[in-house]
Amino acid sequence: MKKPGKADAVSTRDATGHDSARTVDVRSKVTKPKVGPSSSQARNKLNKVKELLAAKREKDALKGSEDATSTVKSDSTSKRALSKGAVSPAGGLSVLQQKMQQKLKGARFRWINEALYTTTGDKALEMVQNDPSIFEEYHQGFSAQVEKWPVNPVDVFIKYLRSKPDKLVVADLGCGEARLSATVGQQHTVHSFDLVAYNELITPCNIADVPLPNDSADVAIFCLALMGTDFLKFIREANRILRVGGELKIAEVISRVSDVDAFVQALEGQGFKLARTTANNKMFIMLDFTKVKRCPAKLSDKPGLLKPCIYKRR
Ligand code: SAH
Repeated sequence: MKKPGKADAVSTRDATGHDSARTVDVRSKVTKPKVGPSSSQARNKLNKVKELLAAKREKDALKGSEDATSTVKSDSTSKRALSKGAVSPAGGLSVLQQKMQQKLKGARFRWINEALYTTTGDKALEMVQNDPSIFEEYHQGFSAQVEKWPVNPVDVFIKYLRSKPDKLVVADLGCGEARLSATVGQQHTVHSFDLVAYNELITPCNIADVPLPNDSADVAIFCLALMGTDFLKFIREANRILRVGGELKIAEVISRVSDVDAFVQALEGQGFKLARTTANNKMFIMLDFTKVKRCPAKLSDKPGLLKPCIYKRR
């Protein structure tokens, strides 16, 4: 994980809900995810509601009536009860409690997201191994974001792979929940890698070091997965596993790439040749490369090629 105490240049929110070109103190963000300035007010309110509920339960118990959670009967009484902060029929949480829970989930998602964008692949792996719930929470937040997008880049890759008549060996690097494998895994051989094996299709690892032999894949895909600060190592790993002539396909949040030419140049320096760039929506850029040769033995670091993708607090 990045050393606390440094201010990092990150991005202000764009159409994706991501930020671009602003400076954020990583220490305050990473170590202290807050739930907003009104959180103490809300907590007081919540405590009051809890007290009222406890008093009501006591009264109901004395009367021998049912517990307050099962007294919401008609629609109109239910609405009245909910607006007063009483217990909702679903999940046993009051409206206020549900709102608080959503806020906390959002804060936690942003914390994890930022941590993944500001650390190396190795450290990210260590982080999720120490606390696997991080991955689960990250993906719940990620899925909520995806629902707001007009297009999901994974669908573009699925369409592409479906159009290929030959059986290909595909490496999905940073596969998330492995939708690629779940959809085109019958047609092609898809190897799915991520920090955590969210399901049985996934091999857990750091994508800087995947358990595939040299020159064994036809296609390597990074769909929004170049998150680590050392992402050039991920690119070099793709170079290692791809056969010469194999395809490297990348989808990234467009606001992360401040200088497309510099980004392409850095990848071409790792043994690839740009085949095409597609940016037909405001959110994502797709870059296709072909492996032309093995990457040089030594990696010369190129910091700042991709900005971290920081979600704004709501
Ligand atoms: N490709 C999927 C998921 C995108 S989210 C999709 O488009 O739906 C980015 C994913 O990259 C996350 O699941 C995250 O865990 C994974 N990831 C980031 N850094 C990684 C690393 N160093 N090794 C393995 N997976 C990584």
